[in-house]
Amino acid sequence: MRPHALTPYFASLSGLTGVGPKVLKNFTRLLDRPEPRVRDLLFHLPTGSIDRRIRPTLAEAQPDTVVTVEIEVEEHRAPPRGRRGPYRVTGSDGTGWITLVFFHGNEAYLQRELPPGARRWVSGKLEMYDGMLQMVHPDRILDEAGLAKLPLCEPTYPLVEGLTSAGVGRTIRQALDGVHPLPEWLDTAFLKQRRWPDFISALKTLHLPEAPEDIGEEAPARLRLAYDELLASQLALALVRARFRAQPGISRTGTGVLVEAISQALPYALTGAQERALADIHQDLAAPKKMLRLLQGDVGSGKTVVALMAMAYVAESGGQSAMMAPTEILARQHLETIAPIAEKVGLRIRLLTGREKGRERAEILQAVAAGEVDILVGTHALFQEHVVFSRLGLAVVDEQHRFGVHQRLALAAKGDAVDVLVMTATPIPRTLVLTYFGDMDVSALDEKPAGRKPIDTRLIALERLDEVVGAVGRAVANGARVYWVCPLVSESETLDVAAAEDRFAHLAEAFPGRVALVHGQMKGTDKDAALAGFQSGETPILIATTVIEVGVNVPEATVMVIEHAERFGLAQLHQLRGRIGRGDRASTCLLLYKGPLGEVAKSRLEIMRETEDGFRIAEEDLKLRGEGEVLGTRQSGAPVWRMASIEKHGDLLEAARRDAALVVARDPELTDVRGEALRHLLYLFERDEAVRLLRAG
Ligand code: ADP
Ligand code: MG
Repeated sequence: MRPHALTPYFASLSGLTGVGPKVLKNFTRLLDRPEPRVRDLLFHLPTGSIDRRIRPTLAEAQPDTVVTVEIEVEEHRAPPRGRRGPYRVTGSDGTGWITLVFFHGNEAYLQRELPPGARRWVSGKLEMYDGMLQMVHPDRILDEAGLAKLPLCEPTYPLVEGLTSAGVGRTIRQALDGVHPLPEWLDTAFLKQRRWPDFISALKTLHLPEAPEDIGEEAPARLRLAYDELLASQLALALVRARFRAQPGISRTGTGVLVEAISQALPYALTGAQERALADIHQDLAAPKKMLRLLQGDVGSGKTVVALMAMAYVAESGGQSAMMAPTEILARQHLETIAPIAEKVGLRIRLLTGREKGRERAEILQAVAAGEVDILVGTHALFQEHVVFSRLGLAVVDEQHRFGVHQRLALAAKGDAVDVLVMTATPIPRTLVLTYFGDMDVSALDEKPAGRKPIDTRLIALERLDEVVGAVGRAVANGARVYWVCPLVSESETLDVAAAEDRFAHLAEAFPGRVALVHGQMKGTDKDAALAGFQSGETPILIATTVIEVGVNVPEATVMVIEHAERFGLAQLHQLRGRIGRGDRASTCLLLYKGPLGEVAKSRLEIMRETEDGFRIAEEDLKLRGEGEVLGTRQSGAPVWRMASIEKHGDLLEAARRDAALVVARDPELTDVRGEALRHLLYLFERDEAVRLLRAG
């Protein structure tokens, strides 16, 4: 249950004065959530401020600054009848003159606000025009009494159309009036040492600053809130992990026979990085605690074989393994990659996706339950309740960030003290690993298999499509396999598919009988047929939507064409390009773009041309787009931070991680005074999943 004190924080914005349906809609866009609540608004922090303490005389005043000046109103000059032009009001202060400019000025209103002969304060941006000081649409026109009430420092907010900074500020101040202080969840000594304000004072300082320094990047109030947000995420992770680790693990020791046999059966030697990862994994499996390890490696770094050997080791110790992929294509691909070797050494391997039905499915489930299957490869289907293992020992989860923590735990719950190996192909910078996976153990495959040739990446304007088609024709005539990825047109896959179908029709005409199409809306068997044709070389050109993004492995493929590359994210482009350059022949990647390119799109494509280093690309991506995108949180729905940022608050993240670890060590059920307060924090930042876990445990 959400603590009582938080109720006003979760009230709908529609309860505030001035927030009718239309304004609410604007706030929905501003705060990027369907039913914005008070907390969402309060967490919308100002990005700057206007200092209304700057009050020069007109003689001293600097053009292009915001000033608040006192003037005596002199003359009104309406535009000549029937003519366009602004309405002007002149004034002076004895040291100089100023013209106030109003486009579409309403005469009656302006006469009332600025009666000739009266003294008024006007505040706004000063400009020099035709040698005269002028102010276009002053932000404020005030008399002495109004001036007394003017906030001296006015926060400015990120906006969407239909909202003004002043309006947003007004609504926020109103919202602030309705919420109460919360119990302090930070350690008192820590708070003192940092000289940070309490939570609600921090909000008040940021939304009602007295000076621009109050809301600066390094302002204590800002750091406090960033820390709160980071602590909530780190604490939630630590709680989930502690629960996972609380159950004792099982020491699994293999004989090494199967692992050795696989190693013999492979047509290549493992890289040093693969060897090191395997040693880490064997050690974890043998230790009497549960393994929670992230196997991180760029596309093509050879994670699959590492996973296979880990599963073989578990089989030696008498356990079963489950290997879960995010899509059916990938699950099938994994099966095809590992089955020949696995079967050669006597491992029993089966596939379970949504497609295995009826008798076949029943037979698979029965074999798994009877312990007659060593490795079960599949999709989400593996989570389902009726899937029962006889002795599940290891869960391998591929492409982790597409699954939530829950799903991972659900799979782990299917056995006794199941060890978990998570594989991710998105090379994640260290800071991000900490953030999203906590102190999960990490093995990195930072070495590519020997003999890989660099990929020649070129940027080509879409206008030159004909030349590209010609080049593809020549490549195919020389025996190449070509991936042709069609653009992401919209949120709707149907439209993407239509684009892919058009391109298919176009290329099928140019290369009859040599082109295949694969997309997400096709029947499973048709997808298989398309991939099989590509794999065998019968149809050496494969048109695809992004379904091929992750994992598909056809080492013979050496050409990758990506249409409208400017519409893809950097990580996605890298993943796609990783489909080629897997064999020992030279590969080419053609990024077709439609100009003119925006700054970000241009940088992205340039980076792609410059480097193949996945870690470098991930770092650049982080800079260009922020952490949420790097991890593809769109798929998993993981929240993106509002107040903290990895680039700016890396040190706070580290502190929050240590803080969370201490809390979990001292008060794992969050029951003491600070623990109770921390529950408020978790709810406030919507990390209450972790709280629910406490109760369940
Ligand atoms: P990832 O899943 O990390 O993207 P894969 O496991 O699919 O990479 O491996 C990519 C390709 O590299 C596969 O064809 C695999 O057989 C091959 N491979 C893996 N390890 C090695 C190695 N040590 N030497 C040569 N080729 C390797
Ligand atoms: Mg893979």
